[in-house]
Amino acid sequence: MRYLILSDIHANLEALEAVLADAAGAYDRIACCGDLAGYGADPNAVCDWARASLHAVVRGNHDRACASLVHANWFNERAQAAAAWTHATLTPVNLAFLGNLRPGPVAIEEAQLAHGSPLDEDEYVLSEWDVARIAARCGEGVYFIGHSHLQGGFLSDAKGVRRLPRPVSGEDERRFSLPPGRLYLINCGAVGQPRDGDPRAAYAIYLPENREVCLRRTVYDITKAQEKIRKAGLPGSLADRLAAGR
Ligand code: ZN
Repeated sequence: MRYLILSDIHANLEALEAVLADAAGAYDRIACCGDLAGYGADPNAVCDWARASLHAVVRGNHDRACASLVHANWFNERAQAAAAWTHATLTPVNLAFLGNLRPGPVAIEEAQLAHGSPLDEDEYVLSEWDVARIAARCGEGVYFIGHSHLQGGFLSDAKGVRRLPRPVSGEDERRFSLPPGRLYLINCGAVGQPRDGDPRAAYAIYLPENREVCLRRTVYDITKAQEKIRKAGLPGSLADRLAAGR
């Protein structure tokens, strides 16, 4: 079984459609590390697709906040505005779908999905120090994560913590194998709002039989996604940041 692993779609339908087209033929099932909604202008289209298409999914902090605005209290102003707009825009079916999503980790074959870290759905895994602390609790294993919107991630073994390779400017993909006996925290990157300076939509292909992962990027119609955000009356900076990938 081959898996398309997505995270942080954030109601960006143009980015999602581009990823599905780019990955066509390379996967059998789709899994998502959370944040289907929030920020973008198409939460219903993305949730309709998710309900019909996802084999496995975990809850993101924006899914939780869009479903129940109580959880948006600690967001910054523009994220709060987006959560309120999304909450008011979602159909009852999609509101219930987001509200019923469960936190990770959730297993897909030998790997696990989580939004933030394996230990805390709200934790950002950003540094070697973060990974060392998680490794002390989790031991070895393969985890797909999101939340930071930074594609790449880390591995940890007896030699310490290292960063995993990721496609950089001019590259469409980076492929690597997953020798056993290590902890892998693989960030598939954000489909709908990348923050690593590369505005292209990010995703991963996971091949459990080969113990192999491919991190990929693809261009999408950023202008159209921006226009929808502005037309919806969402904060303009949410449109601007898509072009910068920040
Ligand atoms: Zn997110």
